[in-house]
Amino acid sequence: MTEQPALFVSHGAPNLILKNDANCRFFRDLGRTLARPAAIVCVSAHWDTDEPLTSGADLPPTIHDFSGFEAELYSMRYPCPGDPALAARIADSLSAAEIPCFVSEHRGIDHGAWVPLKLMFPSADIPVVQVSIQTDRDTRRHYDLGRVLAPLRRENVLIVGSGGATHNLREFGRYAVDAPPVGYAAAFDEWLAERIEDNAIADLLAYRDLGPEARRNHPGEDHILPLFAPLGAAAGQDWGRRIHHRIEYGILSMAAFAWGL
Ligand code: ZN
Repeated sequence: MTEQPALFVSHGAPNLILKNDANCRFFRDLGRTLARPAAIVCVSAHWDTDEPLTSGADLPPTIHDFSGFEAELYSMRYPCPGDPALAARIADSLSAAEIPCFVSEHRGIDHGAWVPLKLMFPSADIPVVQVSIQTDRDTRRHYDLGRVLAPLRRENVLIVGSGGATHNLREFGRYAVDAPPVGYAAAFDEWLAERIEDNAIADLLAYRDLGPEARRNHPGEDHILPLFAPLGAAAGQDWGRRIHHRIEYGILSMAAFAWGL
């Protein structure tokens, strides 16, 4: 059976999908590069719960969890099927690994998942299960969660962490979309890529202390924690590599990484 890679993607702003730019081309090309997965498990920055949940709906609704963007975004749908059996299996596996996890029967697909997936797999016919993050838990917890997901890769399940390699919305808007990269964001972005490509897992787990201006690049951890799921799903065996690299608005990295691709 096909073994799928594990991916981390930076999903940018929801209207990324309207721009038809280099980021869109990257996601479209990536979708065409991959062998068609049997299912997709997405750990998105935009589903943060007290304890881990998996999305177990048969037909998960598209969630428009953003405001102030173009009207046409709110009529976009990603009508992928769910996979209730896979959602239940992941919850059981996590619980058995002492990461207690339950199934949410009605959770839909948030934009951290559907924006990249709509570009990668526009026919929306591959089942998607989301797994939530916990911003009150540390990087190790999300790495351990990814370790539990690792065997699914050998069953042709694609693991996708969706967040942002840098994500300082407090300073967002200071710079034009095509402004040159600002030093502190570029430094963290490069540090992250180097550590991933060196498989320096201990350094990555301690990114908040070791990464240059980590707290300024990630005032909250919601967009970096999804990185640790594919890192765990690589299980220390597949070394990562950067497959997309771009900083927009001076400070917003769109970097993407793949393990086992
Ligand atoms: Zn986001």
